[in-house]
Amino acid sequence: MNLKEKYSGLLCPIGKYPLRIENEYLVCENCEAAYPIIEGIPDLLIEEAKLPEGISSIQELKCVKERTAGK
Ligand SMILES: [Zn+2]
Repeated sequence: MNLKEKYSGLLCPIGKYPLRIENEYLVCENCEAAYPIIEGIPDLLIEEAKLPEGISSIQELKCVKERTAGK
């Protein structure tokens, strides 16, 4: 089983968008938050996520904003 299969079906915990594999991270297609894969186990906690460039807090993430807006 390759990595893509292993992690398929996992979604961004905030916005429920698909994640893509990038190095040792699963990256949300929508908000670009990067969730680390630690020893093969994805850590899908927003508190542990690496924020994309230009974003300084969780509240600024696209998925968080959408959720706040009631989508
Ligand atoms: Zn997201």
